[in-house]
Amino acid sequence: MTRVVRTRAGLRDALAAAPRPVGLVPTMGWLHDGHRALMRRAHDADATTVVTIFVNPRQFNVADDFAKYPRSEARDLEICESEGVDLVFAPDPDEVYPLGFDTVVSLGAVARPLEGAARPGHFDGVATVVAILFNLVGADRAYFGQKDAQQVMVIRQMARDLAIPTEVVACPTIREADGLALSSRNVHLGEAERAAAPVLHRALLAARDRWVAGERSAEALRAIMRAELAVEPLAEVDYVAVADGRTLAELDRVDGPALASLAVRFGSTRLIDNEPLDASD
Ligand code: AMP
Repeated sequence: MTRVVRTRAGLRDALAAAPRPVGLVPTMGWLHDGHRALMRRAHDADATTVVTIFVNPRQFNVADDFAKYPRSEARDLEICESEGVDLVFAPDPDEVYPLGFDTVVSLGAVARPLEGAARPGHFDGVATVVAILFNLVGADRAYFGQKDAQQVMVIRQMARDLAIPTEVVACPTIREADGLALSSRNVHLGEAERAAAPVLHRALLAARDRWVAGERSAEALRAIMRAELAVEPLAEVDYVAVADGRTLAELDRVDGPALASLAVRFGSTRLIDNEPLDASD
């Protein structure tokens, strides 16, 4: 039976008797198979699985995006129940950010490029809320999707720098059969946009294929992704990147682990995806 708590005090009480290790899956709700995969990882490894459902206003740099973010708590709770989640923390914003709240967790270099550049303030909001959730839950492990690769790096850095002992576990991206990465935002795609959206994954795989074949010029790999995206008239490119896998600095040559990533708009819906270019793959 999944227990739902909405306050810090309720969470503290529920966790007091919870068997350890505790695994945490932070989400913004509108749960899908990507979230389910994270819950299963937690369920397999940890004695108690905690899911948080909180659409965090501080990580939206566009107010309209926050207002339009899909929400359905009843459906989300059914999914948590079916995955054997022990505890759901679904707070109101005032519970996360009490009156007088006035702190921002702001990261350095790892948060600046890619999503950090495209969405000013986004990672401040993410790092701040995840630091709060890590402290409230005191989890042994927390599970995040590789789909948001930069987010995983930002949260790892934040936990290390703030001496939060929760281990950050990255889990593979879950995709639709046609390659589109699952995302709560996919629900906003119109029919034609949905049909066009797998072009993100095709572009990443095209770059990956050329990298596997020996291409080491980052600009050549970016050009391959741009060319693939250009085939799709509905795809409006926000950025295309081939960056160092450890620092996320944009590369000239791919001589070590790297990350190919992109952000593309279909109408008002912005999608991101990435593919590691890593010798161990
Ligand atoms: P969100 O609810 O979109 O904030 O996502 C909550 C967590 O689920 C984050 O760690 C995401 O990276 C992860 N996630 C979202 N989509 C996917 C996916 N398609 N595959 C794996 N993890 C995902």
